[in-house]
Amino acid sequence: MDCLFCKIVAGEIPADIVYESETAIGFRDINAQAPTHVLVIPRKHIATINDIGDEDQALVGSLYTAARDIAAAEGIADEGYRTVMNCNESAGQSVFHIHLHVLGGRPMGWPPF
Ligand code: AMP
Repeated sequence: MDCLFCKIVAGEIPADIVYESETAIGFRDINAQAPTHVLVIPRKHIATINDIGDEDQALVGSLYTAARDIAAAEGIADEGYRTVMNCNESAGQSVFHIHLHVLGGRPMGWPPF
């Protein structure tokens, strides 16, 4: 399968990995949009939110506990941070292996554009 993030999981493409668990990894976004910008991905290939199975509920939950731990490690947990998962083209998804953006270290506006 020709998936960029599967290749990062497999160690075939380098990444600045800051978090690893049995189910997920976290690595710094190559085009950071904030002082902290980490992508949390499942080791399992799931293309979009639409492809999450009922059996993946714990796996998807593990992306959020990863985000919690990464935010604490980055020192942004108390000030606040944003988690975003884009789904398909209109939302801006460009890599089709689900990933939770963890963004912090600067103020953020709402709504997002
Ligand atoms: P999205 O647009 O929501 O699909 O997010 C994809 C993200 O992956 C973008 O923020 C990219 O900057 C990031 N990205 C693409 N390739 C890499 C890579 N090799 N290592 C780290 N981040 C990447």
